[in-house]
Amino acid sequence: MSSAAPLDRPAPTSPLYTSRNHTMTTSTLPDTRTSTALHMDDVLLTFPDGDSRVTAVDHVSLRIDRGHSLAVTGPSGSGKSSLLAVAATLTRPESGHVWLTTPDGEVDLATVSRPRAAELRRAEIGIVFQQSNLLDSLTAREQLESMAWLGSRPSRTRRRETRRRADELLDVVGLGSAADRSVGALSGGQRQRIAVARALMGSPSLLLADEPTSALDSEAGAAVMDLLLGTAAEFDVALMLVTHDPAVAARCDSMVRLVDGAMV
Ligand code: ADP
Ligand code: MG
Repeated sequence: MSSAAPLDRPAPTSPLYTSRNHTMTTSTLPDTRTSTALHMDDVLLTFPDGDSRVTAVDHVSLRIDRGHSLAVTGPSGSGKSSLLAVAATLTRPESGHVWLTTPDGEVDLATVSRPRAAELRRAEIGIVFQQSNLLDSLTAREQLESMAWLGSRPSRTRRRETRRRADELLDVVGLGSAADRSVGALSGGQRQRIAVARALMGSPSLLLADEPTSALDSEAGAAVMDLLLGTAAEFDVALMLVTHDPAVAARCDSMVRLVDGAMV
């Protein structure tokens, strides 16, 4: 991106990484700054299909380290979204393991309880979909703040902290000046950048994005891609990016290709 317009440029550096609250209590825990964030091991997922079943994810194994990006490519119907949904705890695989490294140690997302999965989606796993799914009546800041209020009644201190983080993240995605604007008035690219900021509110170790630029024009799409790849490196987040665009995939650190649910 060569545009110098302030709304198109995420801040180059940010204090957010240091605000991550690592709760290392023993020296035997892995150093999460350099270790694997996600390890999918022999994951199988099938869906009912008439009298038989369709295999959406066919014994897939992969790893993503913190600070690294993995592109998941393949034709339509090859299982990309299904694989991402498994990593997101939104779909439970039939067999296999989905190890997520958290500050409390490794958790197998394939067997985690629903309440714990919801907690992990708040604190450890950020998700960005093709459509930004924002509430048009909220301001950009409220949109981010509302993430933190889910299921809780926050104290005044916590409200203030949440507001500060929301404003920091809006700066990171280049939309600090839009904090008080309702998201309904923003462009598709700006909305998607807010969706990225919202996914980062919990300081996740894993960021999952399913075709996040496919509804955008190429310039807005490139800005969102810059943001996702920059975020992974800068905030030490592992990024799984589903895309059918070879140019986008080529920008990631590594790539897997699915055909009929299997890695080829
Ligand atoms: P992609 O994202 O690569 O287009 P999907 O993961 O959406 O692929 O789909 C993979 C396969 O699983 C397809 O055959 C699709 O029809 C099937 N599938 C996905 N989700 C469901 C579902 N909820 N119920 C039944 N079949 C599904
Ligand atoms: Mg899909």
